[in-house]
Amino acid sequence: MAIVVKARKMTLMERIYFPAIIKGLLLTLAHMFKKKTTLLFPEVKKVLPFGYRGAHRLNKDEQGRVKCVACEMCAVACPAHCITIEGMESGWDDREKIPRTFQIDMLRCIFCGMCVEACPEDAIDMTNNIDLVATTREEMIWDKERLLTNYERTRDQNGTLGQSLRGGLISFTRPRGHLLTPPGKH
Ligand code: SF4
Ligand code: SF4
Repeated sequence: MAIVVKARKMTLMERIYFPAIIKGLLLTLAHMFKKKTTLLFPEVKKVLPFGYRGAHRLNKDEQGRVKCVACEMCAVACPAHCITIEGMESGWDDREKIPRTFQIDMLRCIFCGMCVEACPEDAIDMTNNIDLVATTREEMIWDKERLLTNYERTRDQNGTLGQSLRGGLISFTRPRGHLLTPPGKH
């Protein structure tokens, strides 16, 4: 047996739409006096939480030299395989190698922080720099110079991921230094 459903007739108030418009305007008015959740970025920067995982940086030592020893542990730990490193002899007494090239493909990065955790030299860190805008894919590949520039830009920053890990404020489930086995290397 077929069931016939008759459309409900609209009331006069519903047909003239006026009360609904007034209701909508009152709602808009009420929101105008509420605390704003939007920011005028980039003029106004958002205060990000301690240990935020934003753009990477390559840290420098006390003598202003790159801390990285090109061991590639960060590249091995990276689940997105977006770190590419080419090492070279440092020519310094205190370490064998330094990176000739160091690249992070920010388009592939999932900002997990594994690279920071894996680094034995505290040479790579993540900052609260969220300025990751680019117009080409190439611009999103951050090279050594750009990563070192981000260090200069954020060196006084309190609350990088590395600081949080060292201070025990953030802990991953894996014990520190235990690397994930990359695919095909079981
Ligand atoms: S944050 Fe994660 S995905 Fe990005 S480079 Fe580091 S390990 Fe790779
Ligand atoms: S793990 Fe640290 S020291 Fe090793 S290559 Fe990566 S950033 Fe450099």
